Amino acid sequence: MQIKIYRGTHRIGGCVTEIKTEDARIIIDAGEELPPFDGNAPLEIEGVTCGNAQCGGVFITHYHGDHAGMYNRILPSVPIYMGSAAKRIYSLVQRAAHAQNGTDFGRVETFKTYEAGKPICIADMKITPYAIDHSAFDAYMFLVESGGKRALHTGDFRMHGARGRKMPEVFKKYARDIDALIIEGTMMSRRGETILTERQLGQRAQKILHDNKSVFVLCSSTNIDTIAEFFWAAAAENRMFIVCEDDYQSKILRVVSQNAKSSFYDFGRGKVYAYGKNLHGAMAERGFCFIGRTNRITRQALNAFSDNVLIYSMWTGYLNKSHPAYDEYKSSFVNEAVANGSSLRYLHTSGHASADQIRRVCAITGAKTIIPIHSEYPEAFYSLGTDGAVHVLQDGESITV
Ligand SMILES: [Zn+2]
Ligand SMILES: [Zn+2]
Repeated sequence: MQIKIYRGTHRIGGCVTEIKTEDARIIIDAGEELPPFDGNAPLEIEGVTCGNAQCGGVFITHYHGDHAGMYNRILPSVPIYMGSAAKRIYSLVQRAAHAQNGTDFGRVETFKTYEAGKPICIADMKITPYAIDHSAFDAYMFLVESGGKRALHTGDFRMHGARGRKMPEVFKKYARDIDALIIEGTMMSRRGETILTERQLGQRAQKILHDNKSVFVLCSSTNIDTIAEFFWAAAAENRMFIVCEDDYQSKILRVVSQNAKSSFYDFGRGKVYAYGKNLHGAMAERGFCFIGRTNRITRQALNAFSDNVLIYSMWTGYLNKSHPAYDEYKSSFVNEAVANGSSLRYLHTSGHASADQIRRVCAITGAKTIIPIHSEYPEAFYSLGTDGAVHVLQDGESITV
């Protein structure tokens, strides 16, 4: 079994991994790069993005753009696979992108879907998806088996979200005796950041909602665990749960409610209000939690109320001028709200595994070979103290197990 990392050995995002056997070849994740961009030409892969199709499938772990965003460049006859709820959410995300910048989203509708625990066989290769804890809903890792060898590709993962406590059991049950572990290492270069569990985040959110009546939250519309924590915190404090009236967020939550087995993700009928001026009276009286975005609607709503608390629930790197991923748009939105009197709070938790969680997965899976990806600092794996041998590859380099 040959594993090649086309991109993502020394950066976060833009990951593309190939697994090849004698008779089969698949790609796991086809992501677009996150800023800062290195200025390289777009990634071309013979038989996948150009030339004659020679690939059994592109398997996407989850709907984040840095794992799925290259889909329009995959040759039409190469099938693309995604989880079924993830596909529906991604379709909404790409439709919104179409409205903004004309993205052609038609290909998303042709994605094939897979299910947790149900293997897909391609020639001599068996690929089994397992649900994993991440800030994207319906995210998966892949166990790839062939000729007695077992590779596990974690995708992005963590152990402190809503599924987090189940994760060690999942690894124990399905992912032991791993020959090659391809594992994300986002947090290896962010080790100073404190990691809350989503539950702790929910408790802090509830305290803020208890003490304040006008609470606005800036978070990713697809960060479902965090949104669910705010939803339940608002319910516990009898605050109204409000989303922007443009339908985007409420459609995403509807897909989640329809597809989730756990009642934690049941956003319930009539409990999610689409913002409108007609709600102002009730909002002022009951108090509210407004899940906003950096858009006009959220700005209008902020301006309609006073004594606002603005909770910034995204990675703080976007607001840091000296960070390469600095986002001027987000930053000016936040600054404007603060200048208009909003009190700013930070309440966010990472979608990614801590160094301890990574070490734990290396141990449980008994991985003989450990290949870090999705990391700015993969060399930090050398000092993790894993039993398996760490192989830091360069982009385009391959390893045979
Ligand atoms: Zn990612
Ligand atoms: Zn992700």
